[in-house]
Amino acid sequence: METFISKDLLKTEAAKFGVELDEIALDRFDKYAKLLVEWNEKINLTAITDPEGIVMKHFVDSLSLFSAIELPQGAKSIDVGTGAGFPGLAMLIARPDLKITLLDSTNKKLNVIRDILEKLELTCEVLHMRAEEAGQSKDYREKYDFATARAVSNLRDLSEYCLPFVKKGGTFISMKSAKAEEEIAEGKNAIKLLGGNIKEKKTFEIDDAGERTIILIEKVSTTPPKYPRPSAKIAKNPLR
Ligand code: SAM
Repeated sequence: METFISKDLLKTEAAKFGVELDEIALDRFDKYAKLLVEWNEKINLTAITDPEGIVMKHFVDSLSLFSAIELPQGAKSIDVGTGAGFPGLAMLIARPDLKITLLDSTNKKLNVIRDILEKLELTCEVLHMRAEEAGQSKDYREKYDFATARAVSNLRDLSEYCLPFVKKGGTFISMKSAKAEEEIAEGKNAIKLLGGNIKEKKTFEIDDAGERTIILIEKVSTTPPKYPRPSAKIAKNPLR
């Protein structure tokens, strides 16, 4: 049957990051790419709409995090500012055993996510909230083994959004492209204040998608109750 993406390309490139995709996952990624392009005509989700671009810059880029850290079977993970589902929905397709929450403040993007999940016959929690509000809710605060984020904010502000979700002993996985060093320097104190510790930084190349850095931030102590603050405060008075 004719496919939209090259399943061979996706399978080969994902394998370079230690991710083995079976036929079910490859079919789901193919459908996901088609739906992404269809929805993108109605609402702005991504500037990347060519099949190879979607494979490399969205799917493989998202899956590359599995090479940076092992996520145990059934681990709970929240994707903060998931947008069209990156990396969270791509993680779920590759690892349906994970208990993933996809969070975004824009409900129209989450409606796309809900439609895609239904068509892929996958379920997960879809949460329409601002990160800084959910991070203060007892239902979500320090309830996750992992938090992930790609292209949401600078590392300093992002840590205030993401670290409150992570349980002690868990990890915040921040996916960055260039300028990771500067962001680490700028965010180091904030991370400490929020109960985190930068454990590792992994830099690698994705063919056609350039340099990528994954920063692993371990949650070593509970986040003080006053964080996260409302977004206006985060913007006006960033942690230093
Ligand atoms: N992570 C996706 C990706 O890499 O393709 C989407 C990135 S998009 C540039 C940023 C997303 O973060 C948007 O969908 C936006 O609605 C969401 N976002 C920004 N600030 C947020 C906040 N404070 N709480 C929840 N979502 C937020």
